[in-house]
Amino acid sequence: MPIMSTPPPILAIRDLQVAIDAEGCSWNAVDGLTLTVQRGRTLALVGESGSGKTLTALAVLGLLPSPPSRLVGGAIEFLGRDLTRLKDAQMRKIRGDRIAMIFQEPATSLNPLVPVGRQIAEAMRVHQGIGEATAREQVLALMEIVGIPDPRPRYRSYPHQLSGGMRQRIIIAMALSCRPDLLLADEPTTALDATVQAQIVDLLSRLIKDLRMSVILITHDLAVVAAMADRVAVLYAGRLMEEGGVREVLKDPLHPYTRALVAASPTGVRRSGQVVLPLQGGLDSGARPENACLFAPRCPHAFAPCATEAPPLALRVDGRLARCHLPEVGHG
Ligand code: SF4
Repeated sequence: MPIMSTPPPILAIRDLQVAIDAEGCSWNAVDGLTLTVQRGRTLALVGESGSGKTLTALAVLGLLPSPPSRLVGGAIEFLGRDLTRLKDAQMRKIRGDRIAMIFQEPATSLNPLVPVGRQIAEAMRVHQGIGEATAREQVLALMEIVGIPDPRPRYRSYPHQLSGGMRQRIIIAMALSCRPDLLLADEPTTALDATVQAQIVDLLSRLIKDLRMSVILITHDLAVVAAMADRVAVLYAGRLMEEGGVREVLKDPLHPYTRALVAASPTGVRRSGQVVLPLQGGLDSGARPENACLFAPRCPHAFAPCATEAPPLALRVDGRLARCHLPEVGHG
């Protein structure tokens, strides 16, 4: 029988550490994060704001705002190359060519003074080195793929002449224009109203499947995670708290923090009969005790060891990862 080997991941983040320096203090806002994204798969990063999701994506893109953030350690291997070791010019070539990003707010991602079709065409021409006429035809085809009706007249529209949903479709077209190997989508539906959100989730889900894209999806919306992702990584205070297949994690969360997130989710992902447990308190950005569970101040299940011993990230027999001292969490 032939031996089946697992293909290497398209992206492997290993022990990533990103520090924030502010007001005379310094702390690791991403603290030893290890994650992989397989080709053609979508990994969702979830967690409250301040959990390190967006900093992780910016580190992958080589766009960490400095100051206040600083890459302290770790590796980001993309198609076998460590992105943390590349020069700015090499990273610029990879960004928008092999790795593209969809940001949360379509209004600020587009140039208000340039017609939208031309903006996509310019991105295409820079990265693919094609002529104006070819780029225009490819843009019109792409606008159709992302569901923009009558693309020819819309090609000449300025961003303010389009609705929020149409602008987000333009951003998606721009991100796809260079056929990236990896797409980073940071809260791609948050700024849109509910009906348009559902349309954009449908569109992205279809494109991810049709184009077999590898995606990192950053969101606080677990319904979007359930609709789009294969795996989910739950971050808290810069640390990975739980990781596993979307279906398993959302149906049967292991970590108390994941349980609280799932319980607080409005509809669609909560198990029927599950008790809603409001997440008390907030995420303290500066406090990072070495010898304690970072979630202990908010955890309804905290017991003595949680205050004196940091729980390790444990791999269970069912392949899920969780970081908690509770015995039922550690054993599959
Ligand atoms: Fe709660 Fe303790 Fe588990 Fe941390 S280690 S999540 S405080 S039970």
